[in-house]
Amino acid sequence: MKITEECINCSACIDECEHNAIYNAGEGFTVNGENRSALSDDYTFIVPELCDNCKSCAEVCAVGAIIEE
Ligand code: SF4
Ligand code: SF4
Repeated sequence: MKITEECINCSACIDECEHNAIYNAGEGFTVNGENRSALSDDYTFIVPELCDNCKSCAEVCAVGAIIEE
């Protein structure tokens, strides 16, 4: 899953993701104990390695900004 430029950074999807795969713009994250920099400084983003494609996030996005890759 990925987040497009339609995102209005409402954070609703972040709360929905049980895998902690979604982060705020500019926010760093950790994969397997390795610290990484934000994948986007402008929009909420999904970390591919952490996402299991459950699609829960897409269901709560009011602007349809979360799509299948
Ligand atoms: S598809 Fe599921 S695991 Fe992936 S980011 Fe969305 S809620 Fe999280
Ligand atoms: S729910 Fe949609 S608009 Fe809100 S932060 Fe997530 S992708 Fe962006």
